[in-house]
Amino acid sequence: MASADSDRYDHPGERLPAVLGLRVSDVRQFVYCQRIVYYHHCLDLHPAPTYKMVEGKLEHERTEDLEHRRSLKAYGLADGERVFNARLSAERLGLSGTLDMVIVRPYEVIPVEFKNTEDRIRLNHKYQLVAYALLAEERWQRPVRRCFVYSIPRKAAVEVGITPGARRYTHRLLNAMRSLLNSQGMPEPTRQRQRCQECEFRRFCNDVW
Ligand code: SF4
Repeated sequence: MASADSDRYDHPGERLPAVLGLRVSDVRQFVYCQRIVYYHHCLDLHPAPTYKMVEGKLEHERTEDLEHRRSLKAYGLADGERVFNARLSAERLGLSGTLDMVIVRPYEVIPVEFKNTEDRIRLNHKYQLVAYALLAEERWQRPVRRCFVYSIPRKAAVEVGITPGARRYTHRLLNAMRSLLNSQGMPEPTRQRQRCQECEFRRFCNDVW
């Protein structure tokens, strides 16, 4: 798969308590291709990270090192406390994940994801951010109205608003994933077949070309 984000393989094989059955990375994967979530959770398949994913993780670590020394100017903020690699979970949502960075301010919390890409923000990344927003609100009991995606190659942050509609859709995704995992039925392959070309699960899918 194309993305090489921090929480997708940072704890490979780690078993979460049953109530925390889903991870934020599942949200991103599910929007990308539902089969990936099926492979992870129903067949317990965890292919070794690709070279691109390992490189992406190293780049994340270098960015975090630099971020410690930077001001919040890239985010247009004058104040805020940064928390790195925030491990978040919410029993109520049955969801957990590790967020690259959170900016905690007196009246808001702002999740930040580092991305090793210059591309526009894709839908699967958008809903990943919304899922982080839900978790950050639970943890800090403060509203999340926006998130940032920090593009590592562009050295620039893009703001993403967290709308009521996006929240509702993210809850629907969580419910749809639970239905899938309960049914144990293998979903159809993604209709965006170009995604299969660099998917690490490609060898398990015999019906795509
Ligand atoms: S190869 Fe294609 S259909 Fe199979 S899991 Fe990957 S993206 Fe989905």
